[in-house]
Amino acid sequence: PKTAYVRTKPHLNIGTMGHVDHGKTTLTAAITKVLAARGSGTFVPFDRIDRAPEEAARGITINIAHVEYETDTRHYAHVDMPGHADYVKNMVTGAAQLDGAILVVSALDGIMPQTAEHVLLARQVGVDHIVVALNKADAVDDAELLDLVELEVRDLLTEHGYGGDSTPVVRVSGVGALAGDPRWTASVDALLDAVDTYVPMPERYVDAPFLLSVENVLTITGRGTVVTGAVERGRLRLGDRVQVLGADVETVVTGVETFGKPMEEAQAGDNVALLLRGVPRDAVRRGHVVVAPGSVVPRRRFTARLHVLSGREGGRTTPLTTGYRPQFHIRTADVVGDVDLGGAAVARPGDTVDVTVELGREIPLEPGLGFAVREGGRTVGAGTVTAVL
Ligand code: GDP
Ligand code: MG
Repeated sequence: PKTAYVRTKPHLNIGTMGHVDHGKTTLTAAITKVLAARGSGTFVPFDRIDRAPEEAARGITINIAHVEYETDTRHYAHVDMPGHADYVKNMVTGAAQLDGAILVVSALDGIMPQTAEHVLLARQVGVDHIVVALNKADAVDDAELLDLVELEVRDLLTEHGYGGDSTPVVRVSGVGALAGDPRWTASVDALLDAVDTYVPMPERYVDAPFLLSVENVLTITGRGTVVTGAVERGRLRLGDRVQVLGADVETVVTGVETFGKPMEEAQAGDNVALLLRGVPRDAVRRGHVVVAPGSVVPRRRFTARLHVLSGREGGRTTPLTTGYRPQFHIRTADVVGDVDLGGAAVARPGDTVDVTVELGREIPLEPGLGFAVREGGRTVGAGTVTAVL
């Protein structure tokens, strides 16, 4: 029998961000190694993180590796993503719901384009706390150079509203810690302490009605259909009834797991797999939403504040007008929508405008909900629902 997940500590979702090759995956492996040596968690080697199997669902490739670990005070789910495109996709669409992030900056290279883009992205999707790992410190002898890069990172964070002066910046070496060097092992310990203390426990709406947006659907032979995703709000216990919006089914949850461990109760913030009784595999899809029965009325029309990404932010180079019909990525759903600009005739790249949107199908909507606008596989806008019509 599998060991059950026992909730003894608060659970948070974090992840590594930063320019390619600055050492995100190495540091992720190093964190698990340092904690395994402390006796909490299992070492996950580089290859198992970097070659996490790609999951393809409905034409969207989700490329995320999840690892879990515990510090003295908390349980973390940690995501590492291989490429820049994965950040744009997974962060903006909410597939990676981060309570905090570790920004990895190579001390050898300093700030690079994706360093800045990930900070911008994090701000847009509401990641309020960033801790900096100034990595590859083993390869830089010049203390002044380290100081300079640190200053540069603090400025970048301040520029994006993060309060760079108070942000913890920890000089680390993922490679050194993986090799067991005591100095660099201590540096990873210091980084984890900074995450523990600087990233606050976010407010979890555990008393609200249950809601989980389906990220992936799997079949377990002999057991049935399993949906995975992050619990957005509420709680759920074995045997609870749920409604699957989009699939139009109501059923009973006959299994609840997190990271392969059965759990008694899933709560807001948890990454879980739910076994659904008697639901055929092809009835449920990514983007469907599992809710407490009758707790949500899905809608199609809403007003929103939309930021049109500039060319510099990887967005459009031409303005958009009423009648624009891109894809809306809301939670894990991907829905076409008609944009009405109202009074404003055009929205130029870089503009933030108020719009009315009519989606191609009904989904659960609420003020404050974030979304990404994509066309041709590129993210061209990010917005927030202001009112549901
Ligand atoms: P990612 O693309 O950000 O995930 O970067 P990787 O973890 O794949 O690392 C990219 C390269 O940088 C690899 O060759 C690593 O061995 C090297 N690297 C990562 N961390 C360190 C470090 O702390 N010190 C040194 N000297 N090299 C590192
Ligand atoms: Mg990597």
